[in-house]
Amino acid sequence: MKETSIFGAKNYSNSVKRMKPLFILALSITLCACQSTSNTPQTSTDQPIKNVIFLIGDGMGLSQLYAAMMASEQPMAISRAPYVGLQVTRSATSDVTDSAAAGTALATGTKTRNGSIGVDSLGHPLRSILQRAETAGLSTGLIATHSVTDATPAAFVAHNPDRAQEEAIAEDFLTSDVDLFIGGGRQRFEHRTDGRNLSNELRNKGYHIFYTLDSLPSFEQGPIGVLLADDKLPSMQQGRGDLLPRATQEAVRLLSKNTEHGFFLMIEGSQIDVAAHHNDADAMIQEILDFDHAVRIAMDFADTHPGTLVLVTADHETGGVTLPSDSNIIKFGKAQPTEGNRAQTRFSTKGHTASMVPIYAYGAGAEQFTGLLDNTDLPHRIAHLLQLPQ
Ligand SMILES: [Zn+2]
Repeated sequence: MKETSIFGAKNYSNSVKRMKPLFILALSITLCACQSTSNTPQTSTDQPIKNVIFLIGDGMGLSQLYAAMMASEQPMAISRAPYVGLQVTRSATSDVTDSAAAGTALATGTKTRNGSIGVDSLGHPLRSILQRAETAGLSTGLIATHSVTDATPAAFVAHNPDRAQEEAIAEDFLTSDVDLFIGGGRQRFEHRTDGRNLSNELRNKGYHIFYTLDSLPSFEQGPIGVLLADDKLPSMQQGRGDLLPRATQEAVRLLSKNTEHGFFLMIEGSQIDVAAHHNDADAMIQEILDFDHAVRIAMDFADTHPGTLVLVTADHETGGVTLPSDSNIIKFGKAQPTEGNRAQTRFSTKGHTASMVPIYAYGAGAEQFTGLLDNTDLPHRIAHLLQLPQ
């Protein structure tokens, strides 16, 4: 059982005591690499940064986003961000990353091999900014529309050289101390090959485990896990409705109870990537517009809670999307777009690409996320702004 109010102030020394000595040794080795980064910016904001909402659109490249902007009936929330940057997504060993290596880079600031979760290229565990925030007394949360044991959310709480080991990744939730997680993946907690029921084990640790969002509004503190599906949640086309915006609303309400230390919340629009893998433009656009509802809630929260940074980015681009004209004529010896043409959403691959992805920053410290960045720069800058100890 946790000894302190989960969404209130936490006992720093208790958190440290709970860490296993071997893990600390491994961390001290692997974190040396993080400390050597040379491009940590100076904080120029005049207000302290307390809360970070980090939104990751899985597979959401620039063309995907603009396809959604063209399809949207109203301006997208993401366009409110005054600061925009670009991010290189390559992994430690590949030009084209997968979500595991990209998630690890965004969570820990260290590049790793494709397929690895929260470990470096040699398999050594890496501490994520969520884990560092937790130790520093911030409240922490994860939301995904895929399984919470899938690559991106897993990179913030788990350590495994193989992303496919989702039952082992689920076990890492038992030691993560994350205060709130919402997503799919119930089967990895409750219908396991080893017969364990991790939901009951989490309950024994003091967690409330639910299977719908309905109970959340009556809760004032956690820790809480909400497992909304056996695997991934339904897609928007399958009727997911407003689950992601509702989860986001409840998460910021609960986590912001920690007025003393603030909070770190990661939200993944997981199924943008799924739709792009299927080369399904309509499904992809619906997933992006749903993700944008979460962005809107985060930005509205930042408007009323000074000291909140909202970062929106992707882990990589999926589908090799381009937006060519639907009609061309030959002029001056080359194809030119006709007057009144429409852009089409075209895919060039069923997989990922090496294309850079955009970063949109809003709120306190947002100006730190412009220019051309590496994916590993983001968590270093977040940690610096939150003044997280290693
Ligand atoms: Zn993918």
